[in-house]
Amino acid sequence: MRKTMSILSAALLMTGIGTLCPSASARSNYDKQFAEYPTYNGEDLELTVDKDGTHFRLWSPKAQEVKLNLYNTGLNGKPYESLPMTFHPENGTWTASVKDQLYGKYYTFQMKHDGKWLSETPGVWAKAVGANGKRAAIINLANTNPEGWAADKGPKVDNFTDVIVYEMHHRDFSMSPSSGIANKGKFLALTETGTTSPDGEMTGIDHLKELGVTHVHILPSYDYNSVDETNLQDNTYNWGYDPQNYNAPEGSYSTNPSNPETRIKEMKEMVKALHDAGIGVIMDVVYNHTAENDGSNFELTAPGYYHRHWDDGRYSDASGCGNETASDQQQMRDYIINSVKYWADEYHIDGFRFDLMAIHDIETMNQVAADLKKINPSIFVYGEGWTAGDSPLPAEQRALKENVAKMTDIAVFSDDLRDAVKGHYSNAEDRGFATGKPGNEETVKIGIVAATAHPQVDYSKGNNSKFPYASSPEMIVNYVSCHDDLTLTDKLRKSMPNASDEERMAAAKLAQTIVFTSQGTPFMFAGEEIFRDKKGVHNSYKSPDSINAIDWHLKALNRDQMDYYKGLIALRKAHPAFRMTSAEQIAKHLKFDNIDSEKIPNLISYTLKGNANGDTWKDIKVIFNGSDEEQTIKLPKGNMWNAVVKEGKINLEEGLGSFKGSVKVSPRSATILYRQ
Ligand code: CA
Repeated sequence: MRKTMSILSAALLMTGIGTLCPSASARSNYDKQFAEYPTYNGEDLELTVDKDGTHFRLWSPKAQEVKLNLYNTGLNGKPYESLPMTFHPENGTWTASVKDQLYGKYYTFQMKHDGKWLSETPGVWAKAVGANGKRAAIINLANTNPEGWAADKGPKVDNFTDVIVYEMHHRDFSMSPSSGIANKGKFLALTETGTTSPDGEMTGIDHLKELGVTHVHILPSYDYNSVDETNLQDNTYNWGYDPQNYNAPEGSYSTNPSNPETRIKEMKEMVKALHDAGIGVIMDVVYNHTAENDGSNFELTAPGYYHRHWDDGRYSDASGCGNETASDQQQMRDYIINSVKYWADEYHIDGFRFDLMAIHDIETMNQVAADLKKINPSIFVYGEGWTAGDSPLPAEQRALKENVAKMTDIAVFSDDLRDAVKGHYSNAEDRGFATGKPGNEETVKIGIVAATAHPQVDYSKGNNSKFPYASSPEMIVNYVSCHDDLTLTDKLRKSMPNASDEERMAAAKLAQTIVFTSQGTPFMFAGEEIFRDKKGVHNSYKSPDSINAIDWHLKALNRDQMDYYKGLIALRKAHPAFRMTSAEQIAKHLKFDNIDSEKIPNLISYTLKGNANGDTWKDIKVIFNGSDEEQTIKLPKGNMWNAVVKEGKINLEEGLGSFKGSVKVSPRSATILYRQ
């Protein structure tokens, strides 16, 4: 996520430099008062309906009074009843019960704090809401399950390096008329099969199957603040990094935001359709901050508690969005854990991508991963291992990239590989290894070995990281672009201003070959496989569909790119040598050729030796030439080497020629050969 922060803070964020500074203080003196609060972790928080009626329990230890307001509607009108709630000082909760099962009704809580009545809130545990999420809805969740839901299951994942992530946004994927999809911008878009572009190319879920990705990572789908759900004809676009209700889906992605069941049912239908296609669903979760400060549901239920502050009581702002949450406070830690568990249980979610994960503490993240593993060991947890500003949480407690070895079953994004391959993310004109800028070779190697200790990688020459921070390749997600910053296409247009798109597409292929053959988990941004762009807009979080929607005409136009990406994914899936599971395996089987980067820059060559990770190929030679010149690489003596990737083509079935002695690698291209 990056939406409001300045270039400076963004630069600190992405390089990790800002986050390496020692924190000025431990958790602030102001926040120490909240550590004294009694906590409550029962499953009946806020709402339960049983045979005896409807029961409410709000955690709010310092409220002077709490009122429960009951409504007939999700918006407008007055409560048909307001009930006082009863305090239980031992756990800080307030309760009220009604004898009837109030299905179809709505409710809010309202608390008196320091002698004043605060605004109404649906609480923090609303699992269903009315339009715009202002009131919680009382529904029977069992009614929202699609047919066959009980048997629904996501793909089994043995090792997280087997996952291939496709990052997408609901509107990007289906809004363009060229998508041929009926439910444009909706959860249901991903349930439609047989859709095509005007040129007859597959779109939607069929496109994902054709490409071969294993998981989609969908930008925020919980209820967020910025889109008016009562005015959808405006077609307002937002990424959704402005959380409002963490445990209900976003209404604008449903066909009827005013019916609280619809968004839940349709999101489940989407999950099921993807699962039926063999594709896992990863949620982008943003527990690190709230859209509003004082107006957030956290503040309206337990003022001060859920956010962090500096000593003087000001909100601290490690998110760059005005506030940050306090995972180190027990009730907030439990909240995050219970919330992801809820999504995994109720919606069968297969993975969680934590936005600005380093705002959370290591202990919380470890508990998140451990608890999710108990529900489903295939659930993949990863996040941005940085913050967007300083935090009162000490650096050694933050879930930073540099601390990933202290976390179990959690991965972080490699900004090392990203910036080294394509050039600096925020300096549009800057080039990288794949676009001919020397000096990035060692950092690309850090990416290739998934930031693990390797005898041939000199971390002192790393651009972003100076030590092997990962102890396993399962801790690293490799990518060259995502929703943040310029798309790869736009980056190549800005950094290669005098080149043709054909030359840029060659560079894109080289860049993604590095991503898809590196150790760790590969991650790509939706539409890059057809060379989509965002018209040069680097921060499109609220840009219109005309900027963000993928134009599916590009698929026929750039069919050659699509085939190359398909080939990369097929290569990776067929060859476990690219998906090793331990640092020891990588150090043993991956050998770099000695190339003096001072004399021959932008050239990396390595061999995956000895049927690495049980591969059917004995030895695999991988060569990346990011320079403008053809390079010749010597091939070890012995059996003939068979090329499967060469000069922008991939052919796993028939191969691309056999070589002995040496092989020539054309400018800005990758060559991959194997021998038995
Ligand atoms: Ca919303």
